[in-house]
Amino acid sequence: MKVAVFLPELLRHLFKKPATVDYPFKKLTVPEGFRGTPFLHPDLCIACRACERDCPAEAIVITQESDVEKKFKMVIHNDRCIHCAQCVDSCPTNPVKAMDMDHLYELACFDRHTLKTEWVFTRATPKREPKPVPAAPASDRAGIPAK
Ligand code: SF4
Ligand code: SF4
Repeated sequence: MKVAVFLPELLRHLFKKPATVDYPFKKLTVPEGFRGTPFLHPDLCIACRACERDCPAEAIVITQESDVEKKFKMVIHNDRCIHCAQCVDSCPTNPVKAMDMDHLYELACFDRHTLKTEWVFTRATPKREPKPVPAAPASDRAGIPAK
């Protein structure tokens, strides 16, 4: 094969900006909504276990540590996590989710058993919106008994 065939292409790329960055010396900023590593806001968690139930990788384990104080322990096994964010979608706390994803993606290590994060926390009280009082039926208001 003749080198001359590739020469124009080679010369063109000599003066172009590189398409890659010098990772790990330079790092790109991850985009908004990037699914990094899941983490818990322990002060918001109501220990409903929806995240544990719905995690497709069985990466979340919640255990009750103490019945009296309502203490719970959550472990996220990051070596199993597939970064799907289903746990965040399933978390029912409102307006802020107790489960969230950060922007970390450099989790590589030599021992997979160290790839876990855990929290011991007291279960938060679910915040409920006050229920609207239903209006009385029109027949009652008019003093006419309902049929
Ligand atoms: S991101 Fe997906 S795999 Fe990881 S803990 Fe949440 S639900 Fe499980
Ligand atoms: S993180 Fe959310 S879904 Fe998981 S147990 Fe806590 S409140 Fe429930």
